[in-house]
Parts: sequence; C-alpha cells; structure tokens
Amino acid sequence: MKREYCGLFGIYGHPEAARMTYFGLYALQHRGQESAGIVTWDGSTIREQRGMGLVHEVFNERHLGKELKGNVAVGHIRYSTTGVSLIRNAQPFLVRFKDMHLAVAHNGNLVNTLELRHELENEGSIFQTTMDTEVFVHLIAKHMNGSTIEEAIVKACARIKGAYSLLILVNNKLIALRDPHGLRPLALGRLNDNYVFASETCAFDLIEAEYMRQVEPGEMIVVEGGRLTSMRLTDVPTPKRQCIFELIYFARPDSLVFDEGVYERRKAMGATLAREAPVDADFVMPFPDSGNYAAVGYSQESGLPLELAMIRNHYVGRTFIQPSQDMRNFSVRVKLNPVRSMIEGKRILIVEDSIVRGTTIRTRVKKLRELGAREIHMRVSCPAIRFPCFYGIDFSSKGELIAANNPVADIARFIGLDSLHYLSIPGLLDSVTEKNAHCLACFDGNYPIPPCDHQGKLCLEAESKVTG
Ligand code: AMP
Ligand code: SF4
Repeated sequence: MKREYCGLFGIYGHPEAARMTYFGLYALQHRGQESAGIVTWDGSTIREQRGMGLVHEVFNERHLGKELKGNVAVGHIRYSTTGVSLIRNAQPFLVRFKDMHLAVAHNGNLVNTLELRHELENEGSIFQTTMDTEVFVHLIAKHMNGSTIEEAIVKACARIKGAYSLLILVNNKLIALRDPHGLRPLALGRLNDNYVFASETCAFDLIEAEYMRQVEPGEMIVVEGGRLTSMRLTDVPTPKRQCIFELIYFARPDSLVFDEGVYERRKAMGATLAREAPVDADFVMPFPDSGNYAAVGYSQESGLPLELAMIRNHYVGRTFIQPSQDMRNFSVRVKLNPVRSMIEGKRILIVEDSIVRGTTIRTRVKKLRELGAREIHMRVSCPAIRFPCFYGIDFSSKGELIAANNPVADIARFIGLDSLHYLSIPGLLDSVTEKNAHCLACFDGNYPIPPCDHQGKLCLEAESKVTG
C-alpha cells in the first residue's frame, strides 16, 4: 500500500485562478515533489494540466496564461516514496459522468481501499489507477442516483475509512472537507471576495490571502456563486485526532496548521526537551533545517549558546551525479558539512526533530567524531517513533523503524552518541495548545482508525535488531 504526503490548494471566483493555484502549490512544494496538477473550470469546460516533477517544471506561462481558463481551480502536489511513479497517479483525479465534471484532490491515506475496490469491481466498476482517491470517486458516482452531489459525497464518506482532506471541483462548486478525526490539515482563507483553501497557511501568505479558520474535522464546506455553506459529514461524535507529526516535522514553520503556529510549537518542544533532559555541553546545534526551531527553543530555555555548525547545501537536487569510485555516504555528505573549526575538542549537543531509521543521523555523527568532537549528545524533539503510520506520512514499516524494537541505550550506541533522550509523550503534549486533539499512533500504537488486516500485518512484522 502506498503512503503519500500531499499538498492541496483551491480557489473560487478568481479571474486568474490557475495562476493563484500555481503560487499556492509553489509554497506547498515541501509537501510533495513527485508530481503536480491543476484543474480549472470556466463555467462550461474543465481543463487539466498534470505532470511529473516540481511545480515550476510542470507548468509554464502557456498553461497559466492561456490554457487553464476559468475562475475556479484546484491543485495538488504529490510525493510518494514507494510504489511506481506514474503520471496517471498524479492528481487532481478527473472524471466526467453524465453531465458532471468532477476533479478530486486528496491528501491522506485510506485504510479500507482494497475491500472497497473489490466490492466496486464486483459491481462492475473499472479502475484506471492504483490510487485510493479513485475508489472514493466511484463511490460518489454510485450514490449519485437521485441524490445531490453533496448527499453523494456524504454517503461516500460514510464508507471510506482513513485520513482524507479533500478538495472537489464539481461543475460550479468547490467543495472542501476533512475526515471526522481531522487527521490531515486544511485551511480556509479569503482573497478579496474569493474563498481559498490550502493544506497550510504559508500558501495564503504568498498570494496575500487572509487566513480565516481551518476546515473543521468532519466538516464539509461548499462554495458556490461566492456563497459558503458548511455542513457536517456525520452526526456521530468523533474525537479530533490531528496528525501531531505535521507540527513536529512535516509542515513549514511559517505555517499555521490545526490553528497552531508551527514555529512556536517546535520551539516549545525544544524548550520542554531542555527541561526534561538537561546536559552539560559547550553549545547546542541543530541538523538543519528540520532541527533548527527546536534547537532555538532548547538554547533559550537552557541558556546554552546556539551554534549553526552544520552547513547545508541548498542546491542539492533530487538527483545528482554519483562518484564512480566507492565514496561511502556521499549523498549525506553532499547535503550537510560541518564547520571543522567549531567541532574539535567540543562537547556538542545536537537537537534533532526526529529519528526514523537512524542511518542518516549516524553518518553525520560519525563525521563529527572524525573532526575531533569530545562529546556528542542528542536530544530529539519528538518521542520515539515505534509504529508505522497508515494515514499518509511515509515512515518505514515497523521492521525499519529503529526505535520499534531497540532500547534507547542501543540506539545511542548504534548512532555513536554519549547520551540520547527523546521528548516524552506528556512533554510533547505540554508543548502544544490542545492536549487531547492529536493522533499519536506512531509513538504509542493507539491507532484512531484500526488498520485493516493486510496493513495490520506490517505492525506485526519480524523485529529487527540494530547491529554495528
Ligand atoms: P534517519 O537518520 O533515517 O533517522 O533520518 C532522520 C531524519 O529524517 C531527520 O532529520 C528527520 O528530520 C527526517 N525525517 C523525519 N520524518 C521523515 C519522513 N517521514 N520521511 C523522511 N524523512 C523524515
Ligand atoms: Fe501523524 Fe503519526 Fe498519526 Fe501518522 S501515526 S497520522 S504520522 S501522528
């Protein structure tokens, strides 16, 4: 099963809807680099441009200025680390049936796709892609008989399980919704008289739109003719389970996500970490860029100076020419290089936002040792990741997660650290505003939506022990 990060943007009523969507996607590029797509509607015709690559590679002036006509648009960017990269899996997913044009952009991952797909295939549906989004579209079509599009969407949502933030363009309507747990984010904003939606508010900043609020978990917003209507997907009370990993690592620090400032939350996590696990060191240092904000928080709380002694090459593309000789760990070195003079003889405290496999971090720590660091301690601004995510963040299966089966002392030894501390779960919750509104499943295994059988097996996968 593929797990994907994704970014969404939508706008209603703007004369340059495609161009605004292009900018929105540009600001959300960190959420996906594999493919990008924009679909527009001009009142009678639906148009699309989708392609593999970065936003600026997929669209050109001809698309934005001429071809993608219309004042309603939805856009999507996608990143998938597993499975085949296929253009037909790029979104928004577009279908025409009867007199309806439907474009769907999806962020998240459904957990009952296989079961639903078998059911729909038995009833005669034919699938073109391997995306769970297509299952959702078939469900809408199935429920359209005698129903409005809103009713059909509500019925389709009652069948799907998992994480979904969706933007749906259907004839003259733009519809935005979030699953009842609110696992993935989606924000509502306004640009003059036009409504806009985006996964993160950094997209609003770029086009100078004003942030209004988040689409609430379980809420469906319909925009038509400049009017906004809000309705509930279900009456069943469902606890909020917003992905806390958006705040830890995934979202951009200049965004609001779930109504929380990502920058402030990351700093608060670093400050809590400093109180939980103080250490005597010469300075605090992040591995850029993801660890920067927690490192600032740790430094301010502990009083230890902050040094930026690891330098990142910002121009590393997704692919670069590998050396022909056996230069081990070249890909890690090309990205990050320490400032030699800062390292020798020093007691260094590294603040990192998360450890997944531990292999990249190990290479970086090894380099610091080679340069003569006296002590290397690490404080991680999230709890140990011990369980896989089924809702759209690509972690490895449990067998590859270093913290799944290894005690902290073994992980410290593997990475080559003098000490290692992970932020505790209560410490993490102390660092965010809402205490009982987040999914923590990758830390504690309490899945808000149980993964179905074939996925559940991943959780039971053979345990791997760290060696070396
Ligand atoms: P590793 O050495 O494999 O544990 O890599 C950890 C680094 O990957 C950290 O610096 C994280 O910022 C980053 N990271 C965190 N979560 C993910 C993810 N889901 N996919 C890719 N990289 C991640
Ligand atoms: Fe986010 Fe972790 Fe929950 Fe996945 S399991 S949705 S990464 S908090």
